[in-house]
Amino acid sequence: MTDARKPEITKPKEASHHTCSHNKGMLAKLPFGDTQDFSDASRGFVATLPEVEIRNAEGRVVFTLKEYAFLSAEQAPETVNPSLWRQARLNMHNGLFQVTDRIYQIRGFDISNMTIIEGNRGLIVIDPLVSCEVARAGLELYWAHRGVKPVTAVIYTHSHTDHYGGVRGVVDEADVKAGLVPIYAPDRFLEEVTKENVLAGSPMLRRAMFQFGPMLHKGPRGQVDAGLGKGTSRGLVSLIAPTHIIRQPLETHVVDGIEIVFQLTPETEAPAEMHMYYPGLRALNLAENATHNLHNIYPIRGAQVRDANAWAKYLNEARDKFAVKSDVVFAQHHWPVWGNQRLLDYMAKQRDAYKFLHDQTLRLMNHGWKSGDIAEKLTLPKSLEQEWHVRGYYGTFSHNAKSVYQRYLGWYDANPANLNPLPPVERAKKTVEYMGGAAAAIAKAREDFGKGEYRWVADAMSQLVFADPDNKEARELGADALEQLGYQAESATWRNAYLFGAHELRAGPPKMPPGAAKNADIVAALTLDLFFDFLGVRLNGDKAEGKTIVINWSFPDTQEIYLLNLENCALTYLAGRHADKADAHVTIERATLNKVIQRTLLLPEAMAQGLVKVEGNPMKVAELFGLLDEFAVGFEILEPLRNKG
Ligand SMILES: [Zn+2]
Repeated sequence: MTDARKPEITKPKEASHHTCSHNKGMLAKLPFGDTQDFSDASRGFVATLPEVEIRNAEGRVVFTLKEYAFLSAEQAPETVNPSLWRQARLNMHNGLFQVTDRIYQIRGFDISNMTIIEGNRGLIVIDPLVSCEVARAGLELYWAHRGVKPVTAVIYTHSHTDHYGGVRGVVDEADVKAGLVPIYAPDRFLEEVTKENVLAGSPMLRRAMFQFGPMLHKGPRGQVDAGLGKGTSRGLVSLIAPTHIIRQPLETHVVDGIEIVFQLTPETEAPAEMHMYYPGLRALNLAENATHNLHNIYPIRGAQVRDANAWAKYLNEARDKFAVKSDVVFAQHHWPVWGNQRLLDYMAKQRDAYKFLHDQTLRLMNHGWKSGDIAEKLTLPKSLEQEWHVRGYYGTFSHNAKSVYQRYLGWYDANPANLNPLPPVERAKKTVEYMGGAAAAIAKAREDFGKGEYRWVADAMSQLVFADPDNKEARELGADALEQLGYQAESATWRNAYLFGAHELRAGPPKMPPGAAKNADIVAALTLDLFFDFLGVRLNGDKAEGKTIVINWSFPDTQEIYLLNLENCALTYLAGRHADKADAHVTIERATLNKVIQRTLLLPEAMAQGLVKVEGNPMKVAELFGLLDEFAVGFEILEPLRNKG
C-alpha cells in the first residue's frame, strides 16, 4: 500500500454554518471540564524521542507524529467534532510510560501499545506493534531509560496485525527456535491471523483506506485520528509462530518470574484473544476488550461480525475474578485506569455498553424494528452517555447495532421488495428517471444541502453517480455532503470514511499497483487448506466452464498430500488423499510453494529449475493456473466498476 499513500490533491471546503452549530452543540453536551483522561494519559511518563519520526533502514518514514502538530491547539476547529478533537489530542501522548511497578508501556509509536514487563532475567514484551522498526524504536527507548536487558518472552494478546507485526524488531527467531524465548498466544491464534486477511484480503485492504484514512492529508480538514490511535505504522510486518498456546479458559504460568493468569476471550474483539492478570503486581491487562472508546462489533473495513454478548460476558468475568484484586487496569491501546474503585466503575461501564448494545438491538428486533431504525433509535443510557470511554470514536452505536442485527438475521430485512431488487446501476437509473431526471434531482438536493440535510443529499447524489458516473455536478454535490458529514462525525472512522469518500468523488479512486507482494512470514504461516481455499477463490468461474482437472499434490518437506479437483466450475480438495486416476501429480516443497505465493519465484521458473516435479500431463497444471484471477485493490466503490472482470 505504500506507493499509493500520497497526499490528496483535492481541496477540502470549509465547515457550513450547520456543521459549525452542530459541532458547537457538542461542547454543551459533554463534560469537557473533566480532564481525568489527560492526567491518566500522561501519568507515569518517563521519556520520549526528541521527535517521533521513525524511519526504516533505507530512510523511509514508517511512522511520524510530526504531521499532527496542528493538534496542539486546545480548541477544536470548526471542521472537527470537538469530542473527536479531544480524543485525537489524547492519542498524541507518546513515549515510555510506567504503568505500575515492573510494568511499562510504549505509547504513540504506532496505533497500538507495546507493554513491557520487567521479569527476573529480562523483559516480557506484550504486543510488539505493527512493524519491526517501531517496535525496535520502542525497545531502544526503554533500554535508554531502564537499562539494556534481553527480551525473555513475547506474548501476543490477539490475532490482529497491530499486536504481533513488529516481533522481529524485538526478538531473534533463532532464539525462539532454540527455546530461549517462548512466545505465548491464545488458542487458534495462527489460524485466525491468516484467516481474516486472505480470502477477502483485497476488499478489506481497499476498505481499510476509508476506515483509517492513510491517504488523506493530516489536518483540520483531513485525518486527525483513527480512534484507537493516530494510525498504523508502515514498516516491515513480521510474524514468528507462537511456541506456547493458551488453550484452557484460565491458565496460570510463571513467565520469567512473573505469575500470569491468562483468560481466554474467544470471539470478542478478535476471534482469538486473551486477557492477562498479574496477581503479584495487582494489574489487569484487558488486551483490546476495554479501551477508551466504544469498539467495533464490526469494523467498517469489513469483517465477520463479532459477538457483543461474549464481549460483555468476558469483561464481567474479568471484573469479578481479577479487577477486584487490581490497582490498575490497562489495554493494548490508550492509557490505563488507576485505583480500584475507578477501574471497577470503568469495567462495569465498558461491559454494560456492549451488553446494552447487544440486548437492546435484539429487543427492538424482536419488536419488528429493522436495522436502520434500530441504529437511529438506539442511544446510550443517560448513565453512560457522559462517559468518554464508551463514546464511539472507533465503533459507533449506529453501525454496531446494524451489525448485531446482521449477526442474528443477516442482510435481509424480510421485506420481499428487498429480496431481489434491481442491481445498483439499473436501480439508480430508474430512480433518477422517477426523480424527474438528474437536473431536477440536483436542484432539489441543492435546497436540501442548504438546509443541512447532508445524509439525504449524499444518498441521493450517490444514486445519480451510479446512474451516470460522469455527472460532475452530482459528484461535486455528493462530495460536499460527505465532507460536512465527516466534519460533524464524532467517530474517527466515520470521519475518515466520509472525507475519503468526498475525495474519491472529486478525484476518482486511487491508482494502486496490482498484485502487491505477499508478506513472507504470513505466507509461511498459511495452512495448505487455506492455500487451496484461496486458489478456489481465484478460480474464474466463467473460464472454468466445462473443464475437469484432477491433480495430486505432494509436499515432501512437510509430508503432506492433497487431492485437488476441478469440476462444475468449483475447485475442491481433500487433505491426506490422492486420486487413483489424476491428470497430473505435482511434487513441490512447501518452501518453494511459499516463494511462488510471494511471487519471488514464478511457477514456470520453478518448473524450469526442477523445483517442481510434474508427472502425467503438465499442460493440465498450466491450464488450471491459467484459470486463476489476479485481484487489484484500487477498484471503484462510490461509482460503478469500470473493470467488469
Ligand atoms: Zn489493536
